[in-house]
Amino acid sequence: MINFDIIKSINHNFKKMKKFIILTLLITSFSCNSNAQKKKQEETKGYTVTKTDTEWKEQLTPEQYYVLRKSGTERAFSNALNKTFKEGTYVCAACNTPLFMSEYKYDSGSGWPSFDREIKGNVAFSTGSDLYYGIEEHCAICGGHLGHVFGDGPKNTTGKRHCINGVALKFIPKNE
Ligand SMILES: [Zn+2]
Repeated sequence: MINFDIIKSINHNFKKMKKFIILTLLITSFSCNSNAQKKKQEETKGYTVTKTDTEWKEQLTPEQYYVLRKSGTERAFSNALNKTFKEGTYVCAACNTPLFMSEYKYDSGSGWPSFDREIKGNVAFSTGSDLYYGIEEHCAICGGHLGHVFGDGPKNTTGKRHCINGVALKFIPKNE
C-alpha cells in the first residue's frame, strides 16, 4: 500500500496508464483468441456424410479413394464418363448426391468430364488454390474431392469449365 501511495503521489497519471495498458492487453488477447476459435470452427466444419478413413477405404475402389479422399487426379482420357453424353444426372460416387446435369456437360477436349455449371448447393469450393490448378471443388455433402473450376469454359454460357474426375462421379441415366 505504501508503494502504491508513493507511486500515486509521484505520478498522478500512472494508475490511468496502467489501466490503459492492461485494457489494451486484454482486448488484444481477446481478439486473438476469437480469431483462433473461428479458425478452429472452419477447420472442423462438418459434412452431412462423414466416415472414417478406414470406412472410406472399405467403401471406395482404390482409384475412387485416391481422387475423392486424397484429392488425386485420374489420368486424362482414362474414364468412360469423359465421352458420355446421354441424358441423366452425375452423382457423387461416394454419397450419391446429384452434382452435375447432363445438359451442362460438354466436350472440353481436356480428357476429363467437363461441365459449365454445377448443381447449386451440392458442390462446394475451396479458395486459396493458385490459378494454374483452378479453384478446387468438392461434394458439399461428404467433402469428396471432385476436380477444379477454370475460367476457360464455353463463352456463350457461363465461361466456366468444371474439370471433374470421372471416377468421382456415377452416371444415372434419365428414367432410371
Ligand atoms: Zn459426396
